[in-house]
Amino acid sequence: MKSTFNAQIPNTFAVSAKATQYVEYDSVSDLRQLIPALQGKRVLHIGGGSNLLFTTDFDGIVLHSRIQGIEQVETSAGSVLVRVGAGIRWDDFVAEALRRGWYGAENLSLIPGEVGASAVQNIGAYGIEAKDLIERVECIDLCTGEQRTFTNAECHYAYRSSVFKHELRGRYAVTHVLYRLSCTFEPHLDYGNLRTHLQGEVTADEVRNCIIKIRREKLPDPDVMGNAGSFFVNPVVDRAKFEMLQQTFPTMPFYEVQNGIKIPAGWLIEQCGWKGRKLGPAAVHDRQALVLVNLGGATGADILRLSDAVCADVKQKLDIDIHPEVNIF
Ligand code: FAD
Ligand code: NAP
Repeated sequence: MKSTFNAQIPNTFAVSAKATQYVEYDSVSDLRQLIPALQGKRVLHIGGGSNLLFTTDFDGIVLHSRIQGIEQVETSAGSVLVRVGAGIRWDDFVAEALRRGWYGAENLSLIPGEVGASAVQNIGAYGIEAKDLIERVECIDLCTGEQRTFTNAECHYAYRSSVFKHELRGRYAVTHVLYRLSCTFEPHLDYGNLRTHLQGEVTADEVRNCIIKIRREKLPDPDVMGNAGSFFVNPVVDRAKFEMLQQTFPTMPFYEVQNGIKIPAGWLIEQCGWKGRKLGPAAVHDRQALVLVNLGGATGADILRLSDAVCADVKQKLDIDIHPEVNIF
């Protein structure tokens, strides 16, 4: 266990924000020992900091899990159940799963962050979401120290959302995630532009490498330019609104989803003229309008100001509400 006072909070936006105390723990028993000291304090559990925006210092305790381990706990009829420590880097897990011949997570290659957050955020890319793979999530109640295991259904998964992001926000630390992976590879390529890159028979490694290549070309590397990936969630509109928009923009991309019609937020932002636009030291990325970037020295407030300006303009010009995906503090 490691505890530091007045510590910089790791975040891929590279904004300066300090926690009164920053504690990294290595096991469930270490975490349980910490519980009494957390009571009455503001507590925030983070992962790799790749979906966070700090607009101010955090007056409280920031926790981070370093729990490791990838353990096969069950094998049955063509699949494995794998229990993974929350502190493992997500992409290291994807790479290791493929190495061991466990399939299903390859479309989620190169998503930054850690295993614990995958279950909180319900990460998704190229038509696969963490919820498609998660069977159970093991947690510690940060108020009582009790252990609780959530089934997939109890996690209330929805598009980039879960019970941990909403109803039970901040209450539990995820310590382990149990994923059900397949022992046979079945490609999922009907999403985005994957088919234009991958034709004929493909292996899981080819899918992974292709996705890594596309992502490296399209997305800014947080080590070079601070960002948190897609800043906004794609809005879902009803048919009446969609038909109205389509009359003005006949080539508008759209996708039918369960609760309406999803319109890529990046496209909306681009239509409003924000792609590549700067506001002080923050900007809308010039290759992917869904991503806000820190050009150097931006504060969280600078980035929030840009986000507010983009949302207001999309609302004013297109009458659509777009909302941040990033967790703002
Ligand atoms: P953090 O950002 O540190 O935390 C995210 C949330 O999870 C916070 O609410 C935090 O409180 C909570 N949390 C984290 N760990 C725990 C824990 N152990 N217990 C309880 N709560 C916890 N996301 C996608 O879905 N798809 C993508 O394709 C994608 N691409 C990205 C590309 C880039 C370049 C970047 C920078 C980000 C991208 N993201 C993407 C967003 C981000 O990677 C994910 O949201 C990721 O799951 C965040 O993981 P993290 O460990 O950094 O969590
Ligand atoms: P893209 O392929 O250019 O597609 C643009 C948008 O269209 C995406 O947001 C995607 O929605 C949607 N889309 C594409 N094909 C679809 C289909 N068949 N059915 C439904 N929706 C479809 O997107 P991109 O920016 O390069 O990203 C590729 C994938 O990586 C996407 O799944 C995206 O979510 C994910 N990604 C996420 C983040 C993040 O921070 N959350 C960052 C980078 C990339 P969805 O976003 O709903 O999938």
